[in-house]
Amino acid sequence: MSERIAIVGGGVIGCAVARKLASDYEVEVFEKGQLASEASALAAGEVTMLSSYEDKPDIGWHAVDFFREYDGTDEFTFTELPSIGLVTPDREDEKRRYAARLAAEGLPVRYLDRETAREQYPTFDFSDHAGVIEHRVSGFVDPYTFAMTLHHDARDDGATFHTNTAVRNLLVEDDDVVGLETEDGRIDADHVVCAAGWRSREFLLEHVPIPVRPYRTQCIVLEPKSPLPEGFPMGWFPGEHVYFRPEHNGDFLIGGWSFAEDNPEGASGQADEAFRNHVADLVPTFLEGFEEAGYVDDWAGVDGATPDTRPILDAPADAPDGLIVATGFNGRGVMTAPVAATAVRSLITGEDAPFSLDTFAIDRFTTRSDDFEFISISAGD
Ligand SMILES: Cc1cc2nc3c(=O)[nH]c(=O)nc-3n(C[C@H](O)[C@H](O)[C@H](O)COP(=O)(O)OP(=O)(O)OC[C@H]3O[C@@H](n4cnc5c(N)ncnc54)[C@H](O)[C@@H]3O)c2cc1C
Repeated sequence: MSERIAIVGGGVIGCAVARKLASDYEVEVFEKGQLASEASALAAGEVTMLSSYEDKPDIGWHAVDFFREYDGTDEFTFTELPSIGLVTPDREDEKRRYAARLAAEGLPVRYLDRETAREQYPTFDFSDHAGVIEHRVSGFVDPYTFAMTLHHDARDDGATFHTNTAVRNLLVEDDDVVGLETEDGRIDADHVVCAAGWRSREFLLEHVPIPVRPYRTQCIVLEPKSPLPEGFPMGWFPGEHVYFRPEHNGDFLIGGWSFAEDNPEGASGQADEAFRNHVADLVPTFLEGFEEAGYVDDWAGVDGATPDTRPILDAPADAPDGLIVATGFNGRGVMTAPVAATAVRSLITGEDAPFSLDTFAIDRFTTRSDDFEFISISAGD
């Protein structure tokens, strides 16, 4: 009989891990609500792994290669678009050097001066900017469709998904994981993967403290006067704490303004009025056709943050044997899901991962407290 793996949490991470293990193990996923109904469904779906891991390109490429190959599976599509970061005149020299360094290291990055950027991206008004940093390999996915496609694959390979089934406790005997106590009873397992999102800290606290704290982040969708043209890029506006991308129907999605959240269960699911006002003032300063943009939708959701903004993908040495932690995705869990799945598989099977797992090891942190300073990745740079 193959070994049994129980996964706590049916978000995009739980689904990706289940898919990666289902053909070789007996995999069961326990989700207290519906699959991908929390942070995973609320994501903007941006895939900016090469810029997020510019210091570890093998990690970035692992995710990009996965999305390219997975494109076309079921209903899932990966829409590739370049991503541009606006550069203010005072940072022009610094950003030119930065782009040249990354390009010399083989990353698909370049600096475009204002005129070239304007030719390439005519919807933009770059008059307050010296130019842009352009990352040529990035894109976006629909996060719910992505999670459901992973779920279907995992199910087809034999994984079982239990929705509306909260896990109450990790069961440990002699410092070995032996299973889970769910609200429906005891489940035996040889390995447990904790993919419970921002709730992972509380879930594991009795067994192993992890430095993860909840934070809340927001999105707004606007309808410009004319639909955004073909080739409209994704991007970010450093200093304003926002990122943006087009929607398939020509609408405009803008996200950001992330803050540590002390009341995650009670946090508002709508964007803050201050964020809506900020977006209304900011967008017409760098995009044409937005003076009278229509408002379409807004929302906010909670994710887990770590002190250095990168996830914990590890079997901590001080945790019971058989426990794997996969949490703390800091607003990048959708794009990092392929990396998380590969890392968790490697931790369970002992197979080499195609990138170093040190980046994700819990012992990189000197603290296990959740009282660390929250770093917003939407601040950009
Ligand atoms: C507004 C917003 C925009 C975002 N934009 C992006 C983006 O553009 N790109 C990107 O890559 N990421 C983005 N993210 C982040 C991304 O959504 C998350 O990092 C990712 O969804 C984390 O996945 P997860 O599976 O770890 O967490 P979740 O989706 O939160 O899933 C965890 C699951 O565990 C379940 N659970 C918890 N405790 C228990 C228990 N005891 N028993 C059973 N089940 C339990 C929960 O119900 C939940 O469904 C965004 C997030 C938000 C909120």
